[in-house]
Amino acid sequence: MNHSARIPSRSGREHAQPLYPTEVWECTNEDCPCWMRKGLTFEEQPKCPMCGSEMMPGERMLPRVSDKEPR
Ligand SMILES: [Zn+2]
Repeated sequence: MNHSARIPSRSGREHAQPLYPTEVWECTNEDCPCWMRKGLTFEEQPKCPMCGSEMMPGERMLPRVSDKEPR
């Protein structure tokens, strides 16, 4: 093996992925970090899969979903 152990520093400007405001469901339990993209669930009022609390609509800046997303 001859690969370098050096890790590139973060000082340079990285090629950041563009983020878009995306509709999401956010868990109402403040201790729970769970959220999900609205586009991935079709329930009108989903429950949190982690803690079972109700989820409320929110918005997050997320990278665009792949075009190859299954339907
Ligand atoms: Zn939760």
